[in-house]
Amino acid sequence: MERSDNKRKPYQLVSREWKKENTVIKLKHTEIGSGRITLIAGPCAVENEDQIFTISEFLSKQGIRILRGGAYKPRTSPYAFQGLKKEGLVMIRQAADKYGMNVITEVMDTNLVDEVYQYADILQVGTRNMQNFQLLRALSKIDKPVMLKRGMSSTMEEWLLAAEYILSGGNDKVILCERGIRTFETATRNTLDLSIVPLVKSVSHLPVIVDPSQGTGIRELVTPMSVAAIAAGADGIMVEVHNQPEEALSDGEQSLYFDQFSELVDKARKAARLHDKAMDFESEKILI
Ligand code: PEP
Ligand code: MN
Repeated sequence: MERSDNKRKPYQLVSREWKKENTVIKLKHTEIGSGRITLIAGPCAVENEDQIFTISEFLSKQGIRILRGGAYKPRTSPYAFQGLKKEGLVMIRQAADKYGMNVITEVMDTNLVDEVYQYADILQVGTRNMQNFQLLRALSKIDKPVMLKRGMSSTMEEWLLAAEYILSGGNDKVILCERGIRTFETATRNTLDLSIVPLVKSVSHLPVIVDPSQGTGIRELVTPMSVAAIAAGADGIMVEVHNQPEEALSDGEQSLYFDQFSELVDKARKAARLHDKAMDFESEKILI
């Protein structure tokens, strides 16, 4: 295909025209985009050993195979908790290894890529960095998967072009994540754009994860929007869970209690049936 054909869409390598088959991201404990629904869960931020080990133990019993948790946190206020940094990376890695899970954590800056790479299985680019082109170029040179969150004010085209930076630099292991966009509506933290899920999946071969925690900001909305995301055709969801949400150092109001998370898992499994899909933890852990 002619990459310079300007009648075509501006993105190329991420498009279905370029590659028809779905991209499947293979990890040690699971796969993303293979047709099973992936649940990624964990706290917004790693806070201390007790917190991350307690949450990891609970999640592993629920079958969760990818643990999330920020060590470097992009906070709106410079006075808010900024994350445990390297210490947090060490903790989440230890917790995930103890309970047989993969780690996803955010990389906030180009000069942190090497450090985060050492501890993470998937490197997350946050909404505020979606168009940090230097960071995207640095991540295009690594051999680990990158989850690219949609910029809160970005169009689908801008999002896919950001992904194109990573693929064109040589890293084709990219996962897209819809996490809500800014609209006039202030009743929810963001407006979760679920209509983009089937659309982006029709134009791109990359797997799509939905984050209804940042997407709504309200814990009661996380389960219904997770179900809706799976019904819309997402490859998985990423949600925030905390052992003591009211004590959380960030995003407590959108973090699920353990019993709410168990209910989410049950409903997610039922939603997956709509597409004759199973959950990733319903397969044998043959990948280990
Ligand atoms: C997060 O996942 O905790 C986060 C900061 O996400 P976003 O970049 O979507 O706000
Ligand atoms: Mn958060």
